[in-house]
Amino acid sequence: MLMPTAYDTLLGLIREMGQLESVESVLDWDQETFMPPNGLPARAEQLSLIAGLVHERRTHSKVGELLAQLDGQGDFAQAANVREMRRTYERATKVPTDLVRRISKVSALAKAAWVDARSSSNFTAFAPHLAELLELKREVADRVGYQGERYDALLDEYEPGATATEVATTFAALRQPLSEFVRELAAAKRQPDPSILTRHVPRAAQERLSHRLAEAIGFDFQSGRIDVSVHPFCSGTTPGDVRLTTRYLENFFPSAIFGTLHEAGHGLYEQGLDPAHVFTPMGHAVSLGIHESQSRMWENFVGRSRPFWEHFYPDALKLFTSLADVSLDAFVAAINIVRPSLIRVEADEVTYNLHIILRFEMERELIGGKLPVKDVPAAWNAKFKELLGITPPNDRAGCLQDIHWSMGAFGYFPTYALGNLYAAKFFASIRKAIPDLDDRLRRGEFRTLLDWLRTNIHRHGQRYRAGELVQVVTGAPLSIDPFMTYVRTKFSAIYGL
Ligand code: ZN
Repeated sequence: MLMPTAYDTLLGLIREMGQLESVESVLDWDQETFMPPNGLPARAEQLSLIAGLVHERRTHSKVGELLAQLDGQGDFAQAANVREMRRTYERATKVPTDLVRRISKVSALAKAAWVDARSSSNFTAFAPHLAELLELKREVADRVGYQGERYDALLDEYEPGATATEVATTFAALRQPLSEFVRELAAAKRQPDPSILTRHVPRAAQERLSHRLAEAIGFDFQSGRIDVSVHPFCSGTTPGDVRLTTRYLENFFPSAIFGTLHEAGHGLYEQGLDPAHVFTPMGHAVSLGIHESQSRMWENFVGRSRPFWEHFYPDALKLFTSLADVSLDAFVAAINIVRPSLIRVEADEVTYNLHIILRFEMERELIGGKLPVKDVPAAWNAKFKELLGITPPNDRAGCLQDIHWSMGAFGYFPTYALGNLYAAKFFASIRKAIPDLDDRLRRGEFRTLLDWLRTNIHRHGQRYRAGELVQVVTGAPLSIDPFMTYVRTKFSAIYGL
């Protein structure tokens, strides 16, 4: 009988960790969708047990011993699984359990303080919590280690391999041309009519159309569900079980339609991962940035395009009767309206990255100790004016709007903008590979596009890091040009520039 190899043993442990994490995500999903309120105390205990089990396994000495025996052997799948397991093991063992516990306690309090501070628009009440979290996260960064600056260690948690310097260079190039283009669009003579978006559309009609769109682009309802939650999300447990949520606002239908397309984009990625590698890094998405590239591609590049609505608009009108007098052009212009706004989650495709650049610049300075916590509101407002031309009237609509910092999630924000840039880069390659893409969209034929994504992105799992994947798939490293060309072309047409 053959003894199992070190890799087989390690793979068994990796799969167990993946299974435990998938249990965690089903429990999370249930908490956000169907769990009755009184289920909360027991759910908190269940989740904390699973989190403890996952941490125990990740840091088990057996994993360390096995990793020490494995270096550079085997095929690409083995190489990727070992590389990612090593990364997880090193991060988990370098941060002592008591520091993890302290962060979890401090962030629970910070989150509660943030909720109060936001509702009373009082940054001062949140400031000491933010300061404490920053201190703890600096400690995490120092323990994990970094080559350039502390922020790198935090960014690496969400976008493995990315560095602050790279992101800063990319964002610096984007900053001015994007800001200027927003001003150009604001000054254009032709302006979309935003009132179309707030016409009343019954929930049932929105639900039917959004489910129909998700199905049309390829979301498989035998391997997934769409339910309702306050904040839409996608939770992928396995390619055969992907849970999406959306929300229905009767006086603002884009929330459901584009929220569903966005989450379905995430869902298509999860459903497209290789089932042979389930519960291992090779069966896992590359990074948050690459994940976001998939959601933004289906939501914006496809779902807000004219060809897409040339196909669906006649059907949509049968359900959305209050839009009967709205022409296709007026509809497409309205769903693509660009205007500097205060709230990131409501921002359009063009201004969105500016919201992210602001947050990245600020959190990098906060972690680096260059920006004192007490100066956050003033710095936020000044940067906002510089980038978007407006000043937030209060902290609620300014520096207190996002939950991320209250959870200690520094380094998360850049992945949203990277997602847009990756999407544009991939989409430029897709247009070359599928020259008649627009005709296919006009016919409601999405299979060719989805197959391209399956082959070139989804199937690889974590075979490549994000930067490498971009290079392999598009033949060149990430740059801002495809994104700037995409927005200039699309929005100049809509605004008649
Ligand atoms: Zn997303």
